[in-house]
Amino acid sequence: MSFDQMNLKDELLRGIYNYGFEKPSAIQQRAIRPIIESRDVIAQAQSGTGKTSMIALASCQIVDTSSREVQALILSPTRELAAQTEKVILAMGNYMNIKVHSCIGGKSVGEDIRKLENGVHVVSGTPGRVHDMIKRGSLRPRHIKLLILDESDEMLSRGFKKKIYEVYRHLPTNLQVCLISATLPNEILEMTNMFMSDPVRILV
Ligand code: AMP
Repeated sequence: MSFDQMNLKDELLRGIYNYGFEKPSAIQQRAIRPIIESRDVIAQAQSGTGKTSMIALASCQIVDTSSREVQALILSPTRELAAQTEKVILAMGNYMNIKVHSCIGGKSVGEDIRKLENGVHVVSGTPGRVHDMIKRGSLRPRHIKLLILDESDEMLSRGFKKKIYEVYRHLPTNLQVCLISATLPNEILEMTNMFMSDPVRILV
């Protein structure tokens, strides 16, 4: 399947081709369609498979840029990964006025608050800072429709389990969830049972 056959927005397709991609990687082939069809997805995939780009494409596709609300939330285990995801979303969404912000520890809280107040469509962050922004009322989660948990096993091994559950508790009940993990230990399966319904399973 090509990017053209995925029913993506024209301006997003422009962003993809301009970025230099010609055809989707295996995970992109298999995960993008169910995500844009609003299914919950569990993808077992390592880094380097095109998963970050998959997350970026899916986020750009589901966001309504005529609204100023946060609609997609991506949680990552490290500041570097959260910032990298933000960068790829900006590049892919270059032709669609997408506003993305990374909420990561170690950066100015004031800057996060200011950016969020100005209107952001996608937040890419680490669980601690994202939870902090929700508690402060700066990140309003009411319109979030897609939660992506990237490198979930890594988030758990860094002790983020409680924070992830706390963030999840603030999100709307009709939420779509996409979980990506290199391994699927029991703790991850527990999380999928708690957060997801009838997920599509993808192994790449
Ligand atoms: P990722 O796992 O998304 O970080 O991707 C790993 C590397 O593969 C990055 O350098 C991406 O730019 C590249 N990449 C991801 N998807 C594609 C694609 N469909 N076509 C060409 N390169 C890709």
